[in-house]
Amino acid sequence: MTTRTARGLSALVAAGAILAAVPACRGGGMPAETRRWLAHVKYLSSDAMRGRQTGSPEHRTAAQYVAAQFEELGLQPGAGEGFLQPVGFIARRVREKDCALDLVFGDRVVPLTLGEDATLQMSVDSDSLLEAKAVFVGYGLSVPEAGYDDLAGTDLTGKIAVLLQGGPSAVKEPLRSYAQSTGARWSRLHEHGAIGLVTISNPHHSDIPWLRGASQRFSPGMVLADSTLDERRGQRLGVSFNPDRANKLFEGTPHNMAELLALADSQVTLPVFPLVPKIRARVHYDRETLESQNVVALLPGSDPALKDEIVLLTAHLDHLGVGAPVAGDSIYNGAMDNASGVAALIEIARALTKAPKRPARTVAFVCVTGEEKGLLGSRYFTDHLPMRRDRVIANINLDQVRPLFPLKLMTAIAVDESTLGDTIRAVAGGMGLRIQADPEPWRNLMRRADNWSFMQIGVPATGFVLAPEKDTPDDAAYKEWYARRYHTPLDDLDQPWVPSAAAAFNDFFGRLVAALANAERRPQWKAGSEYAKPSR
Ligand SMILES: [Zn+2]
Repeated sequence: MTTRTARGLSALVAAGAILAAVPACRGGGMPAETRRWLAHVKYLSSDAMRGRQTGSPEHRTAAQYVAAQFEELGLQPGAGEGFLQPVGFIARRVREKDCALDLVFGDRVVPLTLGEDATLQMSVDSDSLLEAKAVFVGYGLSVPEAGYDDLAGTDLTGKIAVLLQGGPSAVKEPLRSYAQSTGARWSRLHEHGAIGLVTISNPHHSDIPWLRGASQRFSPGMVLADSTLDERRGQRLGVSFNPDRANKLFEGTPHNMAELLALADSQVTLPVFPLVPKIRARVHYDRETLESQNVVALLPGSDPALKDEIVLLTAHLDHLGVGAPVAGDSIYNGAMDNASGVAALIEIARALTKAPKRPARTVAFVCVTGEEKGLLGSRYFTDHLPMRRDRVIANINLDQVRPLFPLKLMTAIAVDESTLGDTIRAVAGGMGLRIQADPEPWRNLMRRADNWSFMQIGVPATGFVLAPEKDTPDDAAYKEWYARRYHTPLDDLDQPWVPSAAAAFNDFFGRLVAALANAERRPQWKAGSEYAKPSR
């Protein structure tokens, strides 16, 4: 199943070349590498790309642009005969006027307002009509390995589970993060008989305020067309509940949100109790099948003994498309999320092909689709690897390369899980950069990016956050970015950014890839790591 890169490649390469030649408004004194990186970011995040929605014609154009860049650099097609790996999706778009969500008490029905009280998750193949009893299941986690079980002794047969996002400190990272992943959590709830899931986010820990998330609800939800890869199999209702309105669910019980949030913030066990009302949902959506593209290119290794081993680099190409307007702008350009990461992959490919000696191992460049829909492109890719799995020795994922302030510190995802972390620290140290483990594991960054798909098949993987020092102006800029720009149309190239930080990161990334591709030994999981054995 491969597709040759379509026509018009040379025109796209030419477009890139023209952009590269035009000095950016703030591009004055930038080094050539940074100017080239910026040219890709500009092209991919331009309004003409309309936010690179998964399955859109503009995403296809973006994929062809990236493929053309790789081809121009002399890389080999990595998806069989071509650079593009087609991925089938089912898209669902809510028809909200035909939908309803109610709390059914013995003597009355309390209708909920969609968008304000709750939203229907289109990533779930919901029943058109469902009414069931509901149980608050705490964090909804069952982690026998850690001696922790919210679900012990609770019969959820035919019921809807209601949970508060998060996890107890009794379960240590990274197991806690793993247990909260969509697939791991739902499979345990489903084993206990649950048929639906209502999720209440913890407003103290979420990167997206309720209103912004709710304004996205008309954007299509997607699943892979191959239903065997659906992590929500068996789920017949999916609801996100506004934490500010969640007391409606708890009416008639001795519990309330303030109490539950206080417990969750101190990471202790939450109570498990039945809700008084039943939950009734009427769900209708428009359905469409779509195809989108992963882009796969290879730079063959130069060492006959090592070239069968592959250092695999990823960055997601898709973003959120066109959606609810913010300040009159409805195009979600996704400049930092993640045109910046894709651009870095193209430029590292250029640097490696132009180097006097090619790396010993093969380097694979994979730009995946469907990330914003739940890591779907990388999930498909790791299930349809165009190479043998044991040949893939490491995955480095770039997501949101975000040069908002001078680069001094980076968070490296899963840095203590494998010897990848040792190489990362050595390379960074040599450049005077510091590396830290994730200081905010409750945000679950580890399983919110495509490195997660590779960890699930047992490949040592990591990703980076250009991190601020705590309680500095950089920290304020970082938080401000999440508060104002993350997943909004304001993530475009009109935002302030620091060219020297982009240059430093790209330099670090190049050195890291070279170090891994030339190292004597391949990376290994550390003893006792949860990820040493694949979970699928
Ligand atoms: Zn994103």
